[in-house]
Amino acid sequence: MKRNTWQREAVRGALDANDGFVSAQALHSALHATGSPIGLATVYRALADLATKGDADSLQSPEGESLYRACSTSKHHHHLICRNCGLTIEIEPHAVEQWANDVAAANGFTQAEHVVDVFGLCAACSALAAASAS
Ligand SMILES: [Zn+2]
Ligand SMILES: [Zn+2]
Ligand SMILES: [Zn+2]
Repeated sequence: MKRNTWQREAVRGALDANDGFVSAQALHSALHATGSPIGLATVYRALADLATKGDADSLQSPEGESLYRACSTSKHHHHLICRNCGLTIEIEPHAVEQWANDVAAANGFTQAEHVVDVFGLCAACSALAAASAS
């Protein structure tokens, strides 16, 4: 079904233009700012669709909000996310892969998958926070 293709392309484009993880609402505002008539519900659907197809990564913020990002690789990876500015770094923590496989195997689990994302303050935001605290 080719329905709503332009909307999905618009959402995809907006996601590509964004460096960090964004919420559907933030992406919707960004699209509106460029004059797009796209609806919020359509943005939600398009993002869910992109995530299902593996064209976008999705994760839950510590506040429970769904966030999306067009990642540079479809390879398995994890994220370091600045909770202040949204800066996102893709990481491959080999120790985590090993641990996840080991703990699954030790309990008789096969086909184990895991989601590990680290939220914190990036170097720049940490410096800002330190500066404003002193
Ligand atoms: Zn990613
Ligand atoms: Zn930051
Ligand atoms: Zn992993």
